[in-house]
Amino acid sequence: MSEQCIFCKIISRETPSDILFEDDQLIVIRDINPQTPAHLLIVPKEHITGLDGLMPEQSPLMGHIMLMSKKIAKQAGLADSGWRLVINCGADAKQTVSHLHIHILGGRSMTGIMA
Ligand code: 5GP
Ligand code: ZN
Repeated sequence: MSEQCIFCKIISRETPSDILFEDDQLIVIRDINPQTPAHLLIVPKEHITGLDGLMPEQSPLMGHIMLMSKKIAKQAGLADSGWRLVINCGADAKQTVSHLHIHILGGRSMTGIMA
């Protein structure tokens, strides 16, 4: 837990948010500023600053997140149409929240531009 971190505050319920799914390792929330009709965030409960802060012992957590993304995309009705995962890391990637999170984007055809 990092005291000033918005995602830690959501995880601890200090800041109210619509948590769509939760287990012992992660929460899933709707992005407050959606870029696609469906824009969800998978947020691990552990405060990891980002991909650059990830440690080898957190490999099982990342595997769990990848597998959960498939389940969550299916629950969001995206399985047939398709969906995209995005992880921004650092300034050039425009990471704005320094707590690892995985974007699930879907609900429309992407532009085809990756960056
Ligand atoms: P980043 O740019 O760091 O990869 O993505 C951070 C995301 O978190 C942004 O898409 C932003 O809209 C979202 N976000 C920031 N603050 C909040 C918040 O308080 N609640 C929710 N649900 N999303 C947030
Ligand atoms: Zn945090």
